[in-house]
Amino acid sequence: MKIAVIGAGLSGLNAARILSEYAKVTVFEKNEVGGLLSSLCNSYCIEKFYHHCFRWDEYLLEILKELNLHSKLEWKVVKVGQEYGGKIYSLSTPVEILRYPGMNFLDKIKLAKFTISAKKKNYKDFDIVSVVEGIKEELGEELYRNFFLPLLRSKFGDNYREVSYAWLLARVSIRSNRKLKGEELGYLRGGFVQLVEKLSEGLEIKFESAKIGKGSKWTVNGEDFDAVIFTAPLPELNLNFNIPKIKFQSSICALIIAEEKVTEDIYWTNFTNAPFGAMIEHTNFMPFEDYGEHLIYLASYTTPERLYEKSDSDLRRIYLSFLEKFGFREKYVKKFYVFRAKYSGPIYEKGYLKKVTPYKLAEGFYYAGLTSEANYPERSMNGSLLAGKKVAEKVIEDLLS
Ligand SMILES: Cc1cc2nc3c(=O)[nH]c(=O)nc-3n(C[C@H](O)[C@H](O)[C@H](O)COP(=O)(O)OP(=O)(O)OC[C@H]3O[C@@H](n4cnc5c(N)ncnc54)[C@H](O)[C@@H]3O)c2cc1C
Repeated sequence: MKIAVIGAGLSGLNAARILSEYAKVTVFEKNEVGGLLSSLCNSYCIEKFYHHCFRWDEYLLEILKELNLHSKLEWKVVKVGQEYGGKIYSLSTPVEILRYPGMNFLDKIKLAKFTISAKKKNYKDFDIVSVVEGIKEELGEELYRNFFLPLLRSKFGDNYREVSYAWLLARVSIRSNRKLKGEELGYLRGGFVQLVEKLSEGLEIKFESAKIGKGSKWTVNGEDFDAVIFTAPLPELNLNFNIPKIKFQSSICALIIAEEKVTEDIYWTNFTNAPFGAMIEHTNFMPFEDYGEHLIYLASYTTPERLYEKSDSDLRRIYLSFLEKFGFREKYVKKFYVFRAKYSGPIYEKGYLKKVTPYKLAEGFYYAGLTSEANYPERSMNGSLLAGKKVAEKVIEDLLS
């Protein structure tokens, strides 16, 4: 039995790893192993796009145990910040939230009540309500404008208007397990590159862009396979399976390697009106000593059409001049990288829940990845690994048991 897996991201690697026990598996990768979780490695490795995990990422934690990496996992309560009136405020603890001047007291109470009530709602009932309408109706214009709009922009760029209220409710209910001191996040000390390496061990990976065809069997780059598992983003699939089209967004992540930090101890900062969506100071999470320099991501989301609108040097100039307001100077910058991903995740638009891509698309043809059920309401390492597992189970059930 021969199986082709298209894409060596987490979905593809995990599916290939599981199926290797039963069949001859070939992975096709057009770019680099790890996909959205690939890293930049010099004297240390750092993800091109910021990554952390959560306590409820159960399957990811199970895999880390299985691959003997769990002892490297570190958990830390991180600080989150919000810029208001040109100043960055930490909004990590109830006291800090109470003191925050960007929201009135009544709205703070409303917000606290909302995080409790969101859990009790069946989010699926709100799939055709827009997130903007839903928030305004439930919480009012002020909270929408002052609190949610910057968050939505940092998550979806200008695509936020299309997002469903169901997405927000589902997201709030999984993320409202915060501790009093703030939110606890996990990171694999030394980098998630170690997960990618362990998952890839022993796999046959061909560094080719896959072209899929159909004769008496499915073919990939002219070779026959009994089954094909497609794990690349759906817009890359040029076969018609009569499945709903899903809109994707793109990511731009600048990574600044610097001599100084921007904030003292905040990991994730949202801004009201910045040229990027959010700032993630990795070395306010993992120890500076692991790297010997500060690592700061400036992340934003856009559309595939606008991904290359600005050159790397334009982004550098615009971003650094914005950070000047917060005391960060160009002379601190040792290196400035820009990473772009054309298809970095689906837009969880209205009606998305009916569009989720099934694991089986046709006889012998399967899919797992960013638009699988396992990746709702948040595409994640956990979701992609789980999608890889689910699709492998489906292939085993259909062809190998
Ligand atoms: C900015 C950003 C931040 C993120 N932060 C987090 C986080 O903090 N925590 C978290 O859990 N998750 C995070 N994620 C999500 C996580 O990275 C993804 O869910 C996961 O890595 C996706 O894996 P995948 O295999 O499903 O898809 P991908 O990583 O997209 O893999 C698909 C692979 O297919 C390859 N490919 C495409 N076309 C072809 C072709 N024709 N032939 C062969 N190969 C092809 C691609 O090169 C790629 O390697 C983040 C993602 C981004 C973009």
